Amino acid sequence: MGNGGHLEGAGTAAGRAPRRPEEGRASGLSGAPPSRVLAIYAHPDDPDVSCGGTIASWAASGSEVHVCLCCDGGKGSLDPAVDSSRLADRRRLEVEASGRQLGVKEHYWLGYPDGEIHDDDELRGRLVSLIRQVRPEAVLAPDPTAVFFGPSYVNHRDHRAVGWSVLDAVAPAAASPHYFPSAGPVFQVASLYLSGTLEPDTWVDITSSIDVKAAALACHTSQLGEGGEWLRNVVRQGAEEAGQVAGVRYAEAFRKVVLA
Ligand SMILES: [Zn+2]
Repeated sequence: MGNGGHLEGAGTAAGRAPRRPEEGRASGLSGAPPSRVLAIYAHPDDPDVSCGGTIASWAASGSEVHVCLCCDGGKGSLDPAVDSSRLADRRRLEVEASGRQLGVKEHYWLGYPDGEIHDDDELRGRLVSLIRQVRPEAVLAPDPTAVFFGPSYVNHRDHRAVGWSVLDAVAPAAASPHYFPSAGPVFQVASLYLSGTLEPDTWVDITSSIDVKAAALACHTSQLGEGGEWLRNVVRQGAEEAGQVAGVRYAEAFRKVVLA
């Protein structure tokens, strides 16, 4: 695949048993699909890996799905001869193709080069502005507290930077008129679903959308190298493990935060 490891960060990644919910934490299958959803991720393939089944399933149930990609994906190759801006252009087309599979209504690109995004006022302000514009009932994003997945994978810093910024943009900034007052009318997001988490407490049944998720991932040809059969297996295995915890065939796991 040659992108330095984004795809391995898929939620409950293969090789690591999903952790069961702790005593006293809310847990179980998520309820009715949110009416409008905004997924905010770092790299072009991240939403599909992290929550592609959820996006597809909710979109098929009538949710309006919006996706924001913060980085351009231009460093997603281990080949030193690859031109970053051409790769970024190619990945944009891959996202458009995968979005058609998943049922995404709209994509937003913030255009930061990979590895050059920071959890700072600028990013938070742009996210607050987008959240106030889209007004999503639910926001999907990476869990920034996850640093290590098992003994051999360090979560990409871009995932963590975006995750922290999303948390602060959603609570309290987007809902408070005193934060970023020129970024539009305030809006309170009702719930946050954090993927790639080490502390899942909510599962979305993706049994009906696992094939769509695999088809969406297959659109990211720049990341797949030759053939994508292994990926289908990894995706299926991760979803199966999460499904075992949730009591369904295939699932995606989240830490859910209910804000309103
Ligand atoms: Zn990534």
